[in-house]
Amino acid sequence: MELERIRAAFEQHGFCVKYFDNGAQAVAYLSKQTAGKTVSFGGSKTLEALGAYETLGKQADVHWHWKGDGYMQTPEVYLTSANAVSETGELVNIDGAGNRVSATLYGPKEVYFVCGVNKLTPDLPSAMERAQNIAAPKNAMRLFGDHPDKMTACAAAGGDKCYHCNAPRSICRAIVIHQGPMLSQERCELILIGEELGY
Ligand code: SF4
Repeated sequence: MELERIRAAFEQHGFCVKYFDNGAQAVAYLSKQTAGKTVSFGGSKTLEALGAYETLGKQADVHWHWKGDGYMQTPEVYLTSANAVSETGELVNIDGAGNRVSATLYGPKEVYFVCGVNKLTPDLPSAMERAQNIAAPKNAMRLFGDHPDKMTACAAAGGDKCYHCNAPRSICRAIVIHQGPMLSQERCELILIGEELGY
């Protein structure tokens, strides 16, 4: 990984970039950044693996629907991951309900995209490819793999790739490419972690 080249690409797009060798360092940084603030978590296996909700909750007012404590759409800080991180400086996310991508676009003044290096791709087309053919089918499997009545085409096939279905439960309703921080945001950071996290 050519960290400085990737950092330069994201900074040229206006993002702030922080790199950490491991998840513990990243969570320690996020704890400082969010202390005393309202914080919402988007659905994210990365954030779950990091135990970020539990750690940040010691100093911040945290909300995460995955923890059953209610969802806050417009907190001061929003944390999520990305389905793909293009080394050319873009972030790609696919969403079904829309709460996750919408919070990264408008509302919270601070947004952090927390991503393991496994999310990196060389360019935007390969980031789109990753989001559609790796991340989305795995997320559909996670959600519907045990629910034959809610199957999507990818989940029925075992999550190997996208079949461009129009299933009633398709999780692919919107694809958002962040090319830079939104004008309404005061802080928008890519937190890149030197570990494999999420999918
Ligand atoms: S469009 Fe359908 S088949 Fe493709 S990843 Fe989304 S849910 Fe799966």
